[in-house]
Amino acid sequence: MLKDSFGRIHDYLRISLTDKCNLRCVYCHPANSLDGHHDYMKNMSAAEIEKIVSIFVEEGVNKIRLTGGEPLIRKDAKEIIERLSKFPVKLTITTNGVFINEFIATFKQAKLKSVNVSLDSLNKEKNFSLNKRDEFDRVKNNIDLLLKNDFHVKVNVVVMNGINSNEVIDFIDWTKEFPLHIRFIEFMPFPGNKWDHEKVFTHQQILKIASEKYVVEKLSDDEHDTSKKYFVPNHKGTFAVISTMSEPFCSGCNRLRITTDGKMRSCLFSKTETDLLSALRAGNDITPLIRENLYGKHYMLGGNNDEQWGEKETASNRRSMLGIGG
Ligand code: SAM
Repeated sequence: MLKDSFGRIHDYLRISLTDKCNLRCVYCHPANSLDGHHDYMKNMSAAEIEKIVSIFVEEGVNKIRLTGGEPLIRKDAKEIIERLSKFPVKLTITTNGVFINEFIATFKQAKLKSVNVSLDSLNKEKNFSLNKRDEFDRVKNNIDLLLKNDFHVKVNVVVMNGINSNEVIDFIDWTKEFPLHIRFIEFMPFPGNKWDHEKVFTHQQILKIASEKYVVEKLSDDEHDTSKKYFVPNHKGTFAVISTMSEPFCSGCNRLRITTDGKMRSCLFSKTETDLLSALRAGNDITPLIRENLYGKHYMLGGNNDEQWGEKETASNRRSMLGIGG
């Protein structure tokens, strides 16, 4: 069992399959971005991912999320999903949705039932201005395809004050006829993403807007939930807010992360990481390294405090969201 020094049991592993992405989301892609090809030597191979996962599963991990970068641009993404499907874990994925139509059969074979798709605007032009690629129609069609095939679909929306915050109601309207689970995410600071407090649209602001139009009821949240869940009576779907910035939810954290180059990070905001891949390649037992890394986990937000969210500090000590795996 993987326990940190605060007694929190960690059983959920998020694996970044690549730090490359086909979109250029303004809040995610750093200015000095990680372009170029996925480096198959430097990064974990499908077999190495499988081996590392087997060790985490032995240590009690029971949920795995594939992320990135964009996980589905990896040319061996299908092989990785197939390899991981044999473990007794809940396997899930976060994707920008562009290539989902090519993966429906793979997801079904792997019994991957829940898919998180990122979509920040229901307006085609605004979406283009946010992710710099014209993929809105493909993503919308692929969300429909997932629903038709009975997947549990969560839609991730990064809400930025004055940019897409006027679409909160449009997204909630969408849940009236469709069993979608909208997750509004507060804008988080990462190196190169020009974050500032003013751009965060908070949980309470979202709730206020929603409540002006609808009767909003609370759903119960699980101990490890990062989101606060709500529903509008008679809507087929639900909505939730991931309030990382205004109301952090670190007390119930059970998440571990591995970057595509095999570094373990115990928090999205960690300033330190442990090189599991080099140790594995050298033939060493990585279990003590995993335990040691987790034992050093800070109680909240990777040990950052509010004054430290500035660009200078984040640029020097932290990876971008793409480099970690969101
Ligand atoms: N490419 C995939 C996708 O688009 O979903 C997976 C990786 S992406 C980094 C994972 C999630 O992180 C997405 O839902 C994205 O919107 C979110 N994200 C990225 N940068 C963020 C930021 N600065 N603040 C909040 N959420 C962010």
